[in-house]
Amino acid sequence: MSSPSVIESPEEVLSTMDKSGKRKWVYPTPAFGVLWRARLLVGWALIALFVALPWIQINAKPAVFLDVARREFTFFGLTLHPTDTIILMVFLLTILVTVFFFTALFGRVWCGWGCPQTVYLEFVYRPVERLIEGKENKRRRRDAGPWTVDKIWRKSVKLTIFTVISLFLAHTFVAYFAGWHNLLEWMGNSPAESPGYFLLMAGTTALVLFDFGYFREQMCTITCPYARFQSVLLDENSLIVSYDPGRGEQRGTARDRRQAEKKLQEDHDKGPIDLDKLEAGSTSIFGDCVDCGACVRTCPVGIDIREGLQMECVSCTQCIDACNDIMDAVGTPRGLIRYTSERAIDDKPTKVARPRTIAYGIILLALSSVLVGLIANRGPLEVDASRASGTTYRVTGDDEVANRMRFRLRNRTAESVDVRLKMTSPEGAEIRIIGEQVQALAPGEIQRFEAWIVVPASEMPPGGTDSTFEISVNDEVWKAIDFRLLGPVQRTTSSE
Ligand code: SF4
Ligand code: SF4
Repeated sequence: MSSPSVIESPEEVLSTMDKSGKRKWVYPTPAFGVLWRARLLVGWALIALFVALPWIQINAKPAVFLDVARREFTFFGLTLHPTDTIILMVFLLTILVTVFFFTALFGRVWCGWGCPQTVYLEFVYRPVERLIEGKENKRRRRDAGPWTVDKIWRKSVKLTIFTVISLFLAHTFVAYFAGWHNLLEWMGNSPAESPGYFLLMAGTTALVLFDFGYFREQMCTITCPYARFQSVLLDENSLIVSYDPGRGEQRGTARDRRQAEKKLQEDHDKGPIDLDKLEAGSTSIFGDCVDCGACVRTCPVGIDIREGLQMECVSCTQCIDACNDIMDAVGTPRGLIRYTSERAIDDKPTKVARPRTIAYGIILLALSSVLVGLIANRGPLEVDASRASGTTYRVTGDDEVANRMRFRLRNRTAESVDVRLKMTSPEGAEIRIIGEQVQALAPGEIQRFEAWIVVPASEMPPGGTDSTFEISVNDEVWKAIDFRLLGPVQRTTSSE
């Protein structure tokens, strides 16, 4: 007796896999309805934005520039540094809570309308594939068949075009981190001169090509953490793409309906109809679903929305468009599959304001206010002032007490700024910069220097004193900073 090579799994498996775990390739038939056209517009607007942002210059920097090498992160003219940890943290938290808030309200609208995985796959790669390899049935038959000349040239042309598109996307993506000015320079060099660039581009292009050419919906169903998140973010009031079983069931094809009508007629001809039998479905009372399968054929993740909300559903609305076309054809109202909520499907009112949306809304408002406040009060300079390491104080021959301080200034603005430092207390204190005087700081520039803070011994109480220095930016006092100066415990000469 031979044992089975694969143990049959009693559990459900992903729609795009068989029970042995082998990939089932999906050939979705596009449904070019109203929602598809709207998504196409949004998708191309997002693609244009993605391509344009690294080229648009604001304050002489790309609109979005994540310069990891210099540890500078620029967003529309605002450059953040690693020392802006709190702003970066609040910014990331704001994004996270925004995702929570909008998912609780609108379900996976991001997946269907904005996610690059959906946008590039549905509006760039799949149209190219259809153009070169033809419609779904043809592609399915050709893929299942042997390697012919026709199959080889079509696959080769498709792969070439996919590679060119992937190269462009990979460059655009890397431009967010390296800037186009650097990319163009590296592109002009030979691989031997810029091996890092060529390796990076080859790797990124290969990943993009693999994702959109092969991995596709597996990214959403297997890899993406957001798909897993949704079960805790959604509730019965969230907007989802849903089939209306109350209206659609019992499903029946045109043939089923004709047969049922015929049987009903025959029953009628035999005598009065038994209503109990009728209600039990002996002659079948059909809903609006004509069981045509159009919603399943169009689904890019290969699920049947009529089985209820499933983790794989990316809310792409293709099944809505497909079903609306069928409803038009059979003369029944649109919306058998529609954007709705589970409560609305159960004929209950959908609540927009509910504990989780109110809580997310309040947190989002608070975080946004904090973020705006932090950015508004960020100031033009980043200043670190500390005692030079290993020093205390020195008493000079001129009867002065000197403390050696270390300064680090960074210009946070997009323009050059003039910086001046001046002691305001104690009386008679002076700041004497060691080496070059502080110059104008270029945008983003950092200057490090040390200085003696000199106080007349007569103004220095035993043990030390509090002091203050003022920083002026472009001749306007910007900030006063306090620190402790050390001095002799008794008025005697001492040294560091
Ligand atoms: S079930 Fe409908 S909305 Fe969900 S992924 Fe499939 S086609 Fe898109
Ligand atoms: S497209 Fe509409 S009518 Fe056709 S099977 Fe799907 S739900 Fe039923």
